[in-house]
Amino acid sequence: MALHLLVTGTGTDVGKTVFTAHLVRYGVRRGLRLSVFKPFCSGGREDARILRESAGGASSLDVVNPWHFRPPLAPAIAAAAAGRRIRIEEVVKHVREHAKGADLVVVEGAGGLLSPLASDGDAPALIRRLGAVAVVVAVDRLGVLHEVRATLSALPSADASTARLVLMDPARRDVSCRHNRDYLERLLGPDRVFRFPRLTPSLLREGVHPKAGREFDRLLAGLG
Ligand SMILES: [Mg+2]
Repeated sequence: MALHLLVTGTGTDVGKTVFTAHLVRYGVRRGLRLSVFKPFCSGGREDARILRESAGGASSLDVVNPWHFRPPLAPAIAAAAAGRRIRIEEVVKHVREHAKGADLVVVEGAGGLLSPLASDGDAPALIRRLGAVAVVVAVDRLGVLHEVRATLSALPSADASTARLVLMDPARRDVSCRHNRDYLERLLGPDRVFRFPRLTPSLLREGVHPKAGREFDRLLAGLG
């Protein structure tokens, strides 16, 4: 079966989309058969457009992003406000149907791990049903130790024990940056922690940052 990654975060706006877009771009360049999804968008579909483009634009926007809502709210709340209920099983079915033949399936969640997602479950349920490895994106700044520990504690232990952590450089480094990585490597093991420069959508045009490329290699090699 294809490797499934579910990219989630310690919160909203931590850099999930930009990380996912760079990963997808990198995977495509490496020749992987890759499918990318952003099942839920609210407040605009820009994330899905970026991801679609990073994958080469072969899939339609509605395949990358089947559910979208105008108000910038957590998906389950936005769906309820629109009188709709979306079940985890529908999301799983969509991904399975459109990821046939892929070696790598990358799904970007919405918001942080426990952001209300479907009417009957959140990202941890989707991770479980897809058999995905959780990739938790966090910003390397004061507070990240709590954010990572709280996020991992919300996963069933089997999924927490395989989760990968992406530590993104902040816009401005603070003194905690000298200690965060060491602590998190001790907590998870060094093979599950990946450090990325501050990635931006405009960097995508320049190709994959060499430092990021090395970390993507290490991430994918470890998942074999
Ligand atoms: Mg995003």
